[in-house]
Amino acid sequence: MELLDYFLKYVKIDTMSAENTDTIPSTNKQFDLAKVLAKDLEDLGLENIKISKNCIVTAVLKSNCNSKLKIGFLAHMDTIPGFSGTNVKPNIIKNYDGNIIKLNKIELNPKQFPFLLDLKGKTLITTDGTTVLGADDKAGIANIMAMLKYYKDNKDIKHVNIHIAFTPDEEIGAGIQAFDTKAFDADYAYTVDGGYYNEINYENFNAASCNVKIHGLDIHPGSAKGQMKNASLILMEFNSLLPVNERPEYTDMYDGFNHLCEMKGAVGEAIASYILRNHSLKLLEKQKNDFINACEFINKKYGKGTCEIELKDSYLNMKELIDKDPRCIDRAINAIKNLGFTPSFLPIRGGTDGAWLTQMGLNTPNLGTGGYNCHGPYEFACLEEMENVVKILIEIAKER
Ligand SMILES: [Zn+2]
Repeated sequence: MELLDYFLKYVKIDTMSAENTDTIPSTNKQFDLAKVLAKDLEDLGLENIKISKNCIVTAVLKSNCNSKLKIGFLAHMDTIPGFSGTNVKPNIIKNYDGNIIKLNKIELNPKQFPFLLDLKGKTLITTDGTTVLGADDKAGIANIMAMLKYYKDNKDIKHVNIHIAFTPDEEIGAGIQAFDTKAFDADYAYTVDGGYYNEINYENFNAASCNVKIHGLDIHPGSAKGQMKNASLILMEFNSLLPVNERPEYTDMYDGFNHLCEMKGAVGEAIASYILRNHSLKLLEKQKNDFINACEFINKKYGKGTCEIELKDSYLNMKELIDKDPRCIDRAINAIKNLGFTPSFLPIRGGTDGAWLTQMGLNTPNLGTGGYNCHGPYEFACLEEMENVVKILIEIAKER
């Protein structure tokens, strides 16, 4: 099988994860792909192939030389819960002409997505407009398989120990919690889960969350004068105490934000949940202080106990840890440059499985896949860019 065959086979297998379950995997159907991958790994000659009870597929391709180095490659199997990944019908466009691509009721328009024009003459794989494609992250899986195929077909090329893992539930931020970095036993690793083929991401957000609860005083509105405390209105006031410019819609690149995810309220009680994000840990502390100060202000104004907040830390920016042992970054940069490409470093405005793994002691930056516009019907992949990623993975794993 070749790269495109792997990719088309995997995107047709439904692996949507689901929000609000307490099992890993969140959906049993992720095992359908896990089993197919385990079989493909076996055909490619890998050893020690396992599917864990949490649907994590692991395998090893031992070094064919004296190298002791163990490099991990990971990609996730699930697609987002928010948009259908069922019955995916990939649509292949060869020699793309740079015009609008019509897909049922939607269109991929270069005016809206100008980078399409850079892909003129290339092979695009799109959706039929009704589902996601699942290039996020089955492009990553297919790229890894194609690298393994290369080493199967070219036994004379020396490579290091290659440790593979395909994981569930990345899209709901859960699957990686069940990952056993000790058993995986790599010196460092890469997630293959980005966009541009030449991307190396190792800066992600530091993340925290804040739940806010306002206790009001519900009194008949006809006799409320001087007494009623309307929790919904107080919650709106709480929100107004936070900096307006620090919202997702006003920030980009290295700017952090506070994002109001949900609010619910009545007179007696109102609740809100926020996520806080910043590349700088120091600035994230400042954001947390804004919440603490807003809470104190409300309690001073409306009485002790009116406002309660619960701040929680989530994942950390992997940069600080990777800077202490940047071998993984150096190797990726060298590989990309050896091929005559230019590495591109983009800060991730989110988290990655690699952020968790890095915290768990396994340095894991993220590489590109050649897939774009993830998480919706506009998703597509560029075959030539995926081929470039395969070359980069081969180069990273090559013994030097
Ligand atoms: Zn992904």
